[in-house]
Amino acid sequence: MKAIQRIHHSSAMHWVGNGFPVRSVFDYNGLGRELSPFLLLDYAAPHPFPPGKEKRGVGAHPHKGFETVTVAYQGELEHRDSSGGGGKIGPGDVQWMTAGKGIVHEEFHSQDFTRNGGNLQMVQLWVNLRAKDKSAPPRYQTLLQKDIPTVPFADDAGSLRIIAGQYGVQPGAAQTYSPINLWDISLHAHKTITLPLPEGHTSAFLVLKGLVTVNDEGDARDGELVIFKRDGDSITIHAQSNTQLLLMDGEPLNEPIVGHGPFVMNTRAEIDQAFEEFEKGHMGSLEDE
Ligand code: MN
Repeated sequence: MKAIQRIHHSSAMHWVGNGFPVRSVFDYNGLGRELSPFLLLDYAAPHPFPPGKEKRGVGAHPHKGFETVTVAYQGELEHRDSSGGGGKIGPGDVQWMTAGKGIVHEEFHSQDFTRNGGNLQMVQLWVNLRAKDKSAPPRYQTLLQKDIPTVPFADDAGSLRIIAGQYGVQPGAAQTYSPINLWDISLHAHKTITLPLPEGHTSAFLVLKGLVTVNDEGDARDGELVIFKRDGDSITIHAQSNTQLLLMDGEPLNEPIVGHGPFVMNTRAEIDQAFEEFEKGHMGSLEDE
């Protein structure tokens, strides 16, 4: 069994642009080494937006050296990037963007969602790339709900959606550069599941809704991140109430992490170089609307 390393609380809510009221669950300056290959997790808990006319979100900005994974639970988002990638994601959909050698993108609520208003709930997870993959070409994977395999648990305990990696023999939807499992898990109240997880991997889950007891060791509720020890090969989760979790698991990269704002590289010199590339326009730009 993978014992609990600790249960980590999120920061207070802050706004990213005018569209994303997020709690910073962790970032590369705090837990980046402990949670490798995961660098950052922002959680926008359900938040009501009134109908509006003004665009809501974050305008053009760069990234380099990692991937951003956006999981939509409520509301609708539209992304565009300088590689020509882009698309719309709604409830149950995921966007997996490889910034790789450098990209410029924007992240906004969709026009329809802005016009009609409604609840927004989403997660953005940053996944690091190995040094050799940081120069990969930008890539954009839109993973629609219908394309993400769902596996039911025994005893009507709930279900697991395989965004990336695999569960049992079933592979997930995303292509990844290093071994990663990303599972969207729903559990019914008073049910218990045991999840197999690879020995030696970083493993953690965020509680989005509900209250769970983990390994009979401790309880966690919404907004809390349960971080496990790398030793061991399974965890047990008992749902005290109807529960939703996002479980991330991956092989630690064991490489230096040097990050500054939207860039995460291996050395300070590479960060300076990234700023220079961006300023010179080498990461491209978005076409005018
Ligand atoms: Mn971004």
